[in-house]
Formats: sequence, structure tokens, C-alpha cells
Amino acid sequence: MAPRGAFDNQYDDYSPDSAANVLDESGEQISQKFKLKLEKFKAVKLQTLLSKIESDIFYDHTVYTGSAGMALYYYTSSLKMNDPSKELQAALKYIHLEELKGKRISFLCGDAGPLALATVISYRLGNKRPDNLPDYKSLAQRLMNLISLLNEAPDELLYGKSGYLYALLFVNKHIPGKEIIPANHIEKVINSILKSGKQLSQQTKCSSPLLWQWHDKIYFGAAHGIAGILYMLLQARLFVNIVEIRRFIKPTLDWLLSQQFPSGNFPSSLNSSNGDKLVQWCHGAPGFVPLCILAYQVFEDEKYLKIALHCGEVIWQRGLCTKGYSLCHGVSGNAYAFIQLFQATKKALHLYRACCFMEWCALERPGTELHRPDRPISLFEGVIGRLYLVEELAHAMDARFPALSI
Ligand SMILES: [Zn+2]
Repeated sequence: MAPRGAFDNQYDDYSPDSAANVLDESGEQISQKFKLKLEKFKAVKLQTLLSKIESDIFYDHTVYTGSAGMALYYYTSSLKMNDPSKELQAALKYIHLEELKGKRISFLCGDAGPLALATVISYRLGNKRPDNLPDYKSLAQRLMNLISLLNEAPDELLYGKSGYLYALLFVNKHIPGKEIIPANHIEKVINSILKSGKQLSQQTKCSSPLLWQWHDKIYFGAAHGIAGILYMLLQARLFVNIVEIRRFIKPTLDWLLSQQFPSGNFPSSLNSSNGDKLVQWCHGAPGFVPLCILAYQVFEDEKYLKIALHCGEVIWQRGLCTKGYSLCHGVSGNAYAFIQLFQATKKALHLYRACCFMEWCALERPGTELHRPDRPISLFEGVIGRLYLVEELAHAMDARFPALSI
């Protein structure tokens, strides 16, 4: 019987024979044959998307469900090009600065995503920048002005401060050596996240020294919960006081990871009544993998890698979600967990598993998407996420889960 919320995984697990069709002989890259298959899928989907359903992209202009998701797709493609100007111009088509309302702070669901993208595109285009695109410094200033929303924002990634922190780190990474966003601006965001984490921990008398809630629930996962917030804080660790890391962030991490189910999955929230159910990026094990791998690298402790590998097993068994193929709560998001494990271990097993999940998403066998997404064209719920994954799988060592991994 299929586990709850997922189809039975009937792929053969990794062996040199089973991987022969999808990986090359080194086991470190996908094979030419599999690459061609994915390119074909991408070409067909992209053509349908751009010719028939493009108007749906402009839903809310965000990265998560709107046109800025397409902008991020083209921007990420441009990073692999010798001459990126065509992709950068294509990305600009999907950014509508005049539509931004200045009401939401995060990269995924707020103004920070389109503004951060416009900033780095404006910088990289240099003197090829179109007349209607402001220069990168004034765009970065607009991004920084969003800090006025900080106090009323939640702390999580999708709508909140952690999502703003991602946008700031994204700009500094993609405009290297200039410190476009100054350290004291980044530190203000981090301090605000730590402050509310300490407050809730004290109020609830929880043994975790930091605790955050969203809509009155203490979520654990990447999108709304502690895993996403801690991952962002650890990525920003150069701006975090070492005492805060030792006394607050690491004990919180250890408390969170102690909640792992015997299966390897994680609850979606504290005292969740759902039990061991969801295995998807936004809730459950897939969103914990990048956190555990980074913790392994930062704290040099193998126990974190073991937890990540345990997550990998449950994702392999129960990660073919009945909800469909999306990055947020579907199979393509789960494929990223294997890519992250491959990056950390260099083992062909994980890249092979990512390829199986990618194939599942590309084949679209009838009956394998039981819930049509609200926004079927978007990056996080729809087909753009799968196109993004195709591009990333071809350069698996450089892949980064969008809007999460810097
Ligand atoms: Zn989701």
C-alpha cells in the first residue's frame, strides 16, 4: 500500500546498472542521453508556456506565484552563459517595478524578490541597461527601504524577515566585493529575528532558547518554520555574534533536530496532530536537509550529516508526493534534497535519486498529480520550478534551491 500522501516508489534504487542510463561513467554528472531527454521536456514546456499560457505568469508579480519567478529562472540561466545579456533582458521582461506595493518584505512573496533581482540585473547589464531600468544603487536603496516593514513582519522565510535576509545576502553575493548592502543593515535584520526568537522562548518556557511562530503555530519546516530561519541565520553567520551562535542558534538547532521521527521525517509543527505525514520541502524532511548539511560543515560534526542522510532515506521512500511536481510541496522540491546530499557526499547514489525524481516530474504519467496547483505556471507551485530543476541538474554541483540557498 502506498504511504499516506505519496505514491509507492517503484524506481530501482541506485546500482551501477540502474544508473547507467541517467549518469555518466564518473557518476558525478548526468549522462548525455538523460540530458537530451530533459532538454526535450524543457523545450516542449517552455514553448507551451511562452505561446499559450504566458499571461497567467503575471498573477501577482512575486517570485513564488508570479512573474518574478520567471525572472529568477532566466537570471539563474544567465549565470551559465558566456554572454548573459540575452537572458538578463529576458528576465527583465518579468519584473514590474511599478506594480510593487511596498507591503511585503520577503524575497519569495514580497517586494524584496523583484527588487533584489532588478538590482543584480541592472548591475550586470552595466551600460547595456535599458533606459527605464534604474541604476543598481538606487534599486538597492529601494530594497533597503523595505526595512521599515521589519517590525510588523513575521520571522519565517516565505513572508517574513528570513526571506528579507535572503534578498540582502543574494544582492551581496551577486554583486561581489562591493558590500552594496552594508553589514549594519544585515545585522539589524538578524538581531530582530533573534530578539523575537528569544521572546517567544521565554514566554513559552520552552527548552529551546529560540522559538518562532507564524499564524499562532510553531512551525518546524523550511517555508514557515524554524528550519528555514536557522538555515538563513547560519548562511548569514559572518554577521552573527559568535556568542549568539553558541548560546542560542546551536542549542536551538539541536533541540529542533531532536524532534526527528524514527522514519527520518520531521513534524510540521510543535505538537502537530498530523503526525508523520508530509514529506515535502515546505513541511517535513526535505527542508531540513540543507540545514543539516550546513550545520555539518559549520560545526564539523558528523551527527548532522547522519541526520541529513536519514532524511534522504524517507524522502526516497515517501517523496513522490500525490500533490504533484512542485518545488514547494511536490516532487521537484524533494529532488533538491538529493542534489544537496550529492553536493555534500559526492556519492552517485544521491544524484541518481535526484534524476529519478526529475524523471517522474518530466514524464507526468496520468494520475501522478492528484491536486492541480492554484498557480500551475509559477516557480514554486507550477511548471517553472521543474524547468528550473532541469537547468540545475545539468550542473548539479552548483545547484541552489531558489530563494533558500545563497
Ligand atoms: Zn508548500
